[in-house]
Amino acid sequence: MLPTDATPVPSREELLRWDREIVWHAFTQMAGYEPLIFTGGQGCMLTDLNGRQYLDGVSSLWCNVHGHRHPRIDAAIRRQLDQVAHVTSLGASNPTTIALAKRLTELAPSPLSHVFFSSDGSSAVEVALKMAFQYWQQRQDPRPSKTKYVALGGAYHGDTLGSVSVGGVERFHEMFRPLLFDVLRLPEPDRRRGANEEAALQICLAEAEQMLAERHDEIAALVIEPLVQCAAGMVMHPRGYLRGMRELTQRYDVLLIADEVAVGMGRTGTLFACQQEQVAPDFLCLGKGLTGGYLPVAATLTTDTVWQAFLGEYAESKTFFHGHTYGGNPLGCAAALATLDVFDEEQTLARMPDKIEQLERRLADMAEHPHVGDVRQRGLIGAVELVKDRRTGEPFPWQEQRGARVCDFARSQGVWIRPLGNVVVMMPPLCISADQIDRLTAAVAGGIDAATADLGV
Ligand code: PMP
Repeated sequence: MLPTDATPVPSREELLRWDREIVWHAFTQMAGYEPLIFTGGQGCMLTDLNGRQYLDGVSSLWCNVHGHRHPRIDAAIRRQLDQVAHVTSLGASNPTTIALAKRLTELAPSPLSHVFFSSDGSSAVEVALKMAFQYWQQRQDPRPSKTKYVALGGAYHGDTLGSVSVGGVERFHEMFRPLLFDVLRLPEPDRRRGANEEAALQICLAEAEQMLAERHDEIAALVIEPLVQCAAGMVMHPRGYLRGMRELTQRYDVLLIADEVAVGMGRTGTLFACQQEQVAPDFLCLGKGLTGGYLPVAATLTTDTVWQAFLGEYAESKTFFHGHTYGGNPLGCAAALATLDVFDEEQTLARMPDKIEQLERRLADMAEHPHVGDVRQRGLIGAVELVKDRRTGEPFPWQEQRGARVCDFARSQGVWIRPLGNVVVMMPPLCISADQIDRLTAAVAGGIDAATADLGV
């Protein structure tokens, strides 16, 4: 498992202790952390240190696509390893990185024809924000007053300070407020905001139009998670919202940044979520599933219009002075190319509708539960929202960790999922089988019973 020639193999006890005492885990209260150490994976399954198997119901935090240890992706990385593991993208390149850039521009909505690589989703968003800002300063007909961003309530775009600035998840972001730049904030475009979805759409677009009409002179870009605001609790937009926002941003000369870090790479049923509403943004941010969930590669795609504004003599200082050491890493790019190949070879997208429908049926069953306030789904992203009172929609106090209790139960059933507060998330790898969908949803349904058993009906 772990041995190398030089490093002694830590014992099981050492691993557990070191993981608790030394490793500082992301988004985890370390005072109460109980180690969950995965040692292996195969397809949709993961194995822990005790040899227990778990269905990976969150795609290892929304990034695994075709399963763990996919032979095609493993082989591509090994082949690249025999060439070179890494070369910088600062003034240099590599055939694998170039091939991925070309392939992405062929797949992405036109006119996204240039690719800037980084290593994680937050950076992909930071790049888009900075490029948008710089674009207005130095394009042929500069608009130096356009320096602000519009972002949505409940938005999540990553954890670096720029991406946190455009973020709007109170519990994560409030602490850092003094460090952040101001943004213009639109209310969360939840599809439940109106009497029906069409009414919600009209309300949300009217709010956006009012803001853009009044302030477009100051606005560089509007940033949006297309279709689903994942970290907000899988908040789903009314259908037509993305299309409507594209039309408004074009009308008011505001750049549109589509953050598809979570919803891209097939998760919603099409390779890119933007394709569902025939939208081509000015920036498309990809990460997570881009490498099939294998390696940290992220990408910011943009248009020739933006690219042109950065060209000039060196002394004109139009260069984009931004870069990440491992941006465009060839091993990761090899994994990404193989991931795209597998989409073709396994007809991943064509096989999704049956799975999506199955998940829909299972969610509909759960919707009947007295402590379920809402079930929602886009593609293979499913969510169940737990509520204290179904009639009034009163939420459970977050301190009660009801969502986490569902996940604890699921874990006892060999299903690994992570909650977002009172929202239980199902976001399996796209290769999940029908049996595994049943296993995942049965564990969640059982977990909801277990997590609300103290309340009666
Ligand atoms: N954007 C969105 C929509 C995300 O969901 C995330 C991560 N969950 C990010 C950006 C940040 O990506 P990373 O964690 O790779 O920095």
